[in-house]
Amino acid sequence: MARKTLGYVPLIWECAYCQTQNPGPIKTCTSCGAPQPDDVAFLQVDENKFNFIKDEALIRMAQAGPDIHCPYCGTRNPAGAEVCSNCGGEINIPGKVVRETGKEVRTVAEHTEELQSAPVARPAIPTASTRKKPNRLITILLALGGLAIVAGCIIFLVMMLKTDSIQATVTDVRWERSIAIEAFTEVSRSDWWDQIPDIAEIQSCSQRYRYTSEIPEANATEVCSEAVVEDTGTGIGEVVQECVYEVYDDYCDYTVMDWVVLNTVVETGENLNPSWPEPNLSADQQLGAATETYTILFSGDGERYTYTTTDVDTFLMAQPGSEWELTVNQLGAVQSIEPSY
Ligand SMILES: [Zn+2]
Ligand SMILES: [Zn+2]
Repeated sequence: MARKTLGYVPLIWECAYCQTQNPGPIKTCTSCGAPQPDDVAFLQVDENKFNFIKDEALIRMAQAGPDIHCPYCGTRNPAGAEVCSNCGGEINIPGKVVRETGKEVRTVAEHTEELQSAPVARPAIPTASTRKKPNRLITILLALGGLAIVAGCIIFLVMMLKTDSIQATVTDVRWERSIAIEAFTEVSRSDWWDQIPDIAEIQSCSQRYRYTSEIPEANATEVCSEAVVEDTGTGIGEVVQECVYEVYDDYCDYTVMDWVVLNTVVETGENLNPSWPEPNLSADQQLGAATETYTILFSGDGERYTYTTTDVDTFLMAQPGSEWELTVNQLGAVQSIEPSY
């Protein structure tokens, strides 16, 4: 997310001794003279609007960086100061303590509200009338329902996985072979402009949301969070927003020549001589995807079984009357077959 600075606003701090509200950059209370504490919480004056600072010097001060605490007397000095304004001690030294920055500043109203509500903010003790008895019957029914579902799943899995071996005889065979016929023809499609093949003819385009970017981009709509005031460590607040950029782009309908399935020709039989359909093709046609399905019907243990495969070699061995060993699960589905000799 991109961070945007809208401007700078004055902050105040409240003296802990006399409750006087002092301007943020002033380091000692204007009323009682008490020093501003190191960890003082700055407050935002305006609640609903930002009264942006226009004074360039104040803005430069806010941008210069957080104040430095004097290691000798604790006085806060502006960033870049070499010696303490109070005691004259050298402050631009390695390991110097600077005021924390980036904390969200609350408004005076929020601060006052917190002070007033603090003593009564204890959690309420629940009374008998507000405590709700859980409905035991519903709980039991839900538990039973859950158990039934779990048990059902387990039974289903066991029946799928547990298999029996069954001796069976081939009673019937069936095959089906199909081939798609494709024609070279004009088709309509849609895609982002930069995904469309060069040879295509673009019909019409419209702007659509494509993706969200963290950084500003051309043809993007900026979407920002609510502005908040952050402590710059100088007694001046920085009004910031986090923004993302919703990028729009051309999505187009286009036409292009391509091979498309016109129809599918199917050949079927109830014998062991499968053959492929041989359609007559015109000049702008070609053969597409081919599929083959072979079905063998068995009878064994007084039951009928059906086995379907795409393996023509297995199918060609399935002479009607021949004996096979079937692996059948508890749901009656044939998992595999093996000729018996
Ligand atoms: Zn004071
Ligand atoms: Zn000092």
